[in-house]
Amino acid sequence: MLSCQVIMNALDHLAPRSLAEDWDNPGLLVGSFAQKVSRIMVALDVDDAVVDEAIERKADMIVAHHPAIFHGMKQLRTDLPLGRRLAKLVTHHIAVAAAHTNLDIARGGVNDVLAARLGLEKLSAFVVTGESDGEVESLGRIGTLPAPVSIEDFAGHVKTSLHVSHVRLAAAANRPVRCVAVCGGAGAEFIDKAAIRGADVYVTGDVKYHEAQRAVELGMHVVDAGHFGTEFPVVSVLAEHLRAALENERGEIEIFITNRQQDVFQVVI
Ligand SMILES: [Zn+2]
Repeated sequence: MLSCQVIMNALDHLAPRSLAEDWDNPGLLVGSFAQKVSRIMVALDVDDAVVDEAIERKADMIVAHHPAIFHGMKQLRTDLPLGRRLAKLVTHHIAVAAAHTNLDIARGGVNDVLAARLGLEKLSAFVVTGESDGEVESLGRIGTLPAPVSIEDFAGHVKTSLHVSHVRLAAAANRPVRCVAVCGGAGAEFIDKAAIRGADVYVTGDVKYHEAQRAVELGMHVVDAGHFGTEFPVVSVLAEHLRAALENERGEIEIFITNRQQDVFQVVI
């Protein structure tokens, strides 16, 4: 058993809160820094399935990527989904923490994991968000493949590497793919930046019709592998990092990942 504070310190070491965007809401969102924790479940979202799973698996803390409380709350209504979920968490003494844009930006976080899954090399910063210890911090990464491939082969490679049921491809003619920009989650707002940086293809999620058209007009392919698909790989890595960070602490702690969380979207063909 460890205090929640010790776990939050480890999380802050992996994904410092100072890296987070101003509008974000990372950190301890439910529970108390003083409460004792012996079982941590790591997930992408704190949705109803994850909360029920945490209760069944006797987790006393959930560490998730997306903040369980994001917008300002003016009521805690148990007849509405969020209030009901929060009440359930409090009733079962389950603390909840989030590492959101700080985990996107952190070294070894969402985007490094995504780039590694795709086999990208020579990674550099993509959308610069700041600087710490003389090093540039960024959302997303740009890297290269060991050898150029066709866009069709690359799209297939993304699908296999991320274990997703499908990807959506907006192809810009026959441009071969070597330079790849990635941004896990909803990264369509950076399409122009990726094109300016010379990416042959941009891999992200939540791309809308006109955004994909814009990329193609700029001569860059887009592969939309889904918000869930591009971010879920970080969950197991975060669990591993937490395990390593806490292994020398005095007190038993068990860290496991959700096995019930699913993409909200299903493909019906
Ligand atoms: Zn996300």
